[in-house]
Amino acid sequence: MPQKTKNTPMMEQYLSIKEQYQDAFLFYRLGDFYELFYDDALKVAQLLELTLTSRNKNAEDPIPMCGVPYHAASNYIDILVEQGYKVAICEQVEDPKSTKGMVKREVVQLVTPGTLMEGKGVNAKENNFLTALAFDNFQYGLSYVDLTTGELCSTTLSDEESVLNEASSLQTKEIVLTSNEIPQSLKDTLKTRLGVVFSLQEDYDPNAESQFLTSELSSDLEKEATGKLLQYLSSTQKRSLEHIQKAQSYQVDHYLKLDYYSKANLELSQSIRTGKKHGTLLWLLDETKTAMGGRLLKQWLDRPLMQKNEIIKRQDQVASLLQAFFEREDLKEALTKVYDLERLAGRVAFGNVNGRDLLQLKTSLEQIPAIRTVLQGIDQGEWTQTLDDLEPMTDLVDLIAQSINEEAPVEITEGNVIKDGFSEQLDKYRKAMRNGKQWIAELEAKERKKTGIKNLKVGYNRVFGYYIEITKANLGNLEEGTYERKQTLANAERFITPELKELEKTILEAEEQSVDLEYELFLDVRQQVKKAIDRLQNLAKMVSKTDVLQGFATVSERYQYVRPTLSDQQELNIVEGRHPVVEKVLGSQEYIANSIEMDPETLILLITGPNMSGKSTYMRQLALTVILAQMGCFVPAQSAVMPIFDRIFTRIGASDDLIAGQSTFMVEMMEANQALSHATPNSLVLFDELGRGTATYDGMALAQAIIEYIHQNVKAKTLFSTHYHELTVLQDELSQLKNIHVGAVEKDGDLVFLHKMMEGPADKSYGIHVAKIAGLPEDLLERADSILQALEKGKTLQNQNVSEKISESEDFEQNQQLSLFNELTDKESGTLSELKSLDVVKMTPLDALNKLYELQQSI
Ligand code: ADP
Repeated sequence: MPQKTKNTPMMEQYLSIKEQYQDAFLFYRLGDFYELFYDDALKVAQLLELTLTSRNKNAEDPIPMCGVPYHAASNYIDILVEQGYKVAICEQVEDPKSTKGMVKREVVQLVTPGTLMEGKGVNAKENNFLTALAFDNFQYGLSYVDLTTGELCSTTLSDEESVLNEASSLQTKEIVLTSNEIPQSLKDTLKTRLGVVFSLQEDYDPNAESQFLTSELSSDLEKEATGKLLQYLSSTQKRSLEHIQKAQSYQVDHYLKLDYYSKANLELSQSIRTGKKHGTLLWLLDETKTAMGGRLLKQWLDRPLMQKNEIIKRQDQVASLLQAFFEREDLKEALTKVYDLERLAGRVAFGNVNGRDLLQLKTSLEQIPAIRTVLQGIDQGEWTQTLDDLEPMTDLVDLIAQSINEEAPVEITEGNVIKDGFSEQLDKYRKAMRNGKQWIAELEAKERKKTGIKNLKVGYNRVFGYYIEITKANLGNLEEGTYERKQTLANAERFITPELKELEKTILEAEEQSVDLEYELFLDVRQQVKKAIDRLQNLAKMVSKTDVLQGFATVSERYQYVRPTLSDQQELNIVEGRHPVVEKVLGSQEYIANSIEMDPETLILLITGPNMSGKSTYMRQLALTVILAQMGCFVPAQSAVMPIFDRIFTRIGASDDLIAGQSTFMVEMMEANQALSHATPNSLVLFDELGRGTATYDGMALAQAIIEYIHQNVKAKTLFSTHYHELTVLQDELSQLKNIHVGAVEKDGDLVFLHKMMEGPADKSYGIHVAKIAGLPEDLLERADSILQALEKGKTLQNQNVSEKISESEDFEQNQQLSLFNELTDKESGTLSELKSLDVVKMTPLDALNKLYELQQSI
């Protein structure tokens, strides 16, 4: 940093302001530009590709500088903030003309990733949440707000993982802390996984009063987090926060829980490959017509319900909409015309709405009667509550209809915003302005006649006001002393008369005062709208809910979904279920429907089948069906009975944790551990090919032990897919495990996997079957078959071992003696092990043949 003493007063001012905003770029207003200096200038010039100059070029130590014109600044600010930077906007807060010496300057707003109100960073169908955390060494308070909509919520979380899960479903970009109170490991994870920026609210005052802190907050930690959040907002935004709603407390365990990995794995709102919405469940479900509906849908997807009566309430509403096709079309049409009421309310509070925004508000409110009519028409009790809250707000509609001009311009300070007839005084001014033009025209005609000069004209400029202009050529025709001379131009003279000046006064006053009055009237209308913010926000909630539910009905009808029955008996019976997204992509003709049947006694479905046969699709299908059901939507199946789950755990390929640099197998085991230690009998566990990340025997042993553990201890409903056929014998030992497999048929000499789930274990001879189709010699195939049978026999005996271990009744060593392997020579058993470890399905027929030959030679 340069020596302060050497600086000009302006740079002194700059540096003292900059000192308070070290972690932000300071946009310092200088006339028509915002300027940046020193390091800010170096970085911003690079980020925004601006020309870097310097302030005092000839000095020893020139100050790096770059700038942007003030009228284009918001674009530049948006770009920086979207990249995770903060921008402090420093304005001249005095009029330079009336100030002697330095103009006073202040930071009027700190724009941060979590407080963006507009611009490309604010997606209509996404919330922009700012989060704050508090931590007392045991638990976390988490609070979040969307400054654009005013939504404010808070919860208490028990561990780091829950904080990560919440922050990731909120897609929060900025987290407020008071110091480094949370563990560094959590900070690092939030930063690397979610790209969060941290902001310090160092002067947080725990005793400050706030109207937003209600007794609803259920813990001191929630109060602390909410307090930080609000104090951060008021210190950065420095303006009205009247649209912020009272803090609502929620409990994460009231909702179906899915951890960060599972959400990513199941591609609920973000595709794994592209990171986009396309191809996700949200993409499929989003038939909402309003931006607010879009945002609410995402929230429902993040928090599927667990209370049966609440799910049933939504189902009833969807059912009633489904029965009313034509009314639903009317509803959609009305919703299409509803603008973003929540964000409009936010902007009203912030004071940045214009006449057009108010007209949008009016158009939106005018749709409410139509929405009410539709709902009244179909209501059998399901919509009564919603209807009570769907207030048409006719007072606002009338106010805007009477006050705001239908062709209102974007600017609110240049007139033409307020309608004729709204204010008597304004009408008078306007009349004077209109008449004024007429008067001028008449005066011009009169003076032409009087002087006989045909091209005499009355003109206007800012400096002299109205004047009479006569060209040099005509001056000779003007009698000396007729007019008072005012200005001489190259080829004309300009004059004034007392009458003209009198006229001018009336016209200019009327103009000026009408603009001022219009502005005042507009502020007054806006103030009245502001008083209705609470009601607007309530209305917005009802409209968004209706919108999401009509979206459910639309999707359910389009893809022929059914209403699931919620079972209290842990019964899961989905007949001809489909994967909603794969079905949409493939088309319903292509997609093979599959049933899932698990009576209350069945805990585990062990799914066998070769790669690419559809095992993981089947598992995802179940997870998505559960989520849809618990959101209150219908599900893709012919019929469905399902329990209400408390949590879904997944270990389904593809989400290898590259960022954290852990090995696939380690991640696999960590996720398995999560499930085994947290799952309850009401949870759903989906393990796809668990154990494949390590050596065959290792993997198989772990897989079997995990299955046994779930069966004996966890007792959660579990789908476990594996290509270890050996595990299928577990059905004999574990009474609550059922085998299913993916069926295959031979078609035109090819083996075709049907993607069709069938009862029982997979047919183990696929490999030999493939070899047969490939035309391998008959006696070779017979030999392979007999080796296989010998192996099967060995395995059965081995498995008996395991089952006896469970019952702990037999000595393991003793059983080992019975193993078929022990009856073979070492050489033979080595060959057998090698044969056993071959993945026949993956080999080409030629490879298989070569390998068989090689093995044969070795015994
Ligand atoms: P696996 O887990 O057995 O390796 P996947 O579930 O990944 O197999 O499915 C492999 C491919 O088969 C996927 O590309 C998928 O689109 C398709 N598929 C899976 N299930 C079905 C089905 N029921 N109907 C039609 N295609 C399916």
